Amino acid sequence: MQRNFSTELITCPVAMGRFSERMRGQGKTIALVPTMGCLHEGHLSLVRAAKQKADVVVVSIFVNPLQFGENEDLAAYPRPFARDLQLCQELGVDVVFHPDARALYPGEVPTRVEGGPTAKVYCGQTRPIHFGGVLTAVSILFHVTKPQFAFFGEKDFQQLFLVRQMCRDLHFSVEICGMPIVREAGGLAMSSRNVYLSPDRRAIATVLYRAIGAAQQMVRNGERSAAKVLNEVHSLVQSAPEMALDYAELVDVNTLARVDQLLGPSRLLLAAFFGDSPRIRLIDNGAV
Ligand code: AMP
Repeated sequence: MQRNFSTELITCPVAMGRFSERMRGQGKTIALVPTMGCLHEGHLSLVRAAKQKADVVVVSIFVNPLQFGENEDLAAYPRPFARDLQLCQELGVDVVFHPDARALYPGEVPTRVEGGPTAKVYCGQTRPIHFGGVLTAVSILFHVTKPQFAFFGEKDFQQLFLVRQMCRDLHFSVEICGMPIVREAGGLAMSSRNVYLSPDRRAIATVLYRAIGAAQQMVRNGERSAAKVLNEVHSLVQSAPEMALDYAELVDVNTLARVDQLLGPSRLLLAAFFGDSPRIRLIDNGAV
């Protein structure tokens, strides 16, 4: 028999905190799934995993202004909130926490959590304020929702690394659970920003996935030179019309440092721009 589930919508951080304290007082565990909404199967996979892990699942939906640069898509970011709420309801989410920016940041927010040098490379090079904004918001969300577990996707591999680093460095007692990338049928990593892409463009954008596959194949065939693998990735992405690689790097999964030789567990991290107006930035990554 299907349970008749009712998801509670909370917008006030104080009310959210009280809810979490009450749950913890009853001995219940809480899992948080932080999102910016426009939910897709990638997000939903995190919610399903969270439900397996904890008694209470909180999904936060917050388009965080601190993580967008001046010329980025904060205003245009898709916000289909009613649909998101419906999806959360269908999945049996206990609480959707949906504060507005003034509720979470009543003032200027001079206090920030930065991620150190690793927040300034790869995606952080092109988006210098991005990870400081992410980590500041995530730390506030952790304080307000008081989870024992928090779920993040490997789609944002550098973000996952930095959140883990933050929890270790700042002694957050939250277990960070990383989940695999969910892809569309053609291999394109699911992303809220894919709504900006027509079906034709989505097909072209699968070049990132194909580049990851080509890199994996080279390594399986014995190639150990990062430069040679990256050369192949560059030429594949360059062959796709309208796509321009932002960066391609091979990194050590444990430190996120660049590697020259592929001798241990490594990850290919990619970001590319698509088109001009609007110019859409896509990211992807895979184990090699
Ligand atoms: P966002 O709403 O884009 O901030 O993403 C919220 C969370 O969902 C982050 O932890 C992302 O890494 C994760 N996520 C986004 N897309 C995917 C995907 N395709 N597969 C798995 N996780 C994802």
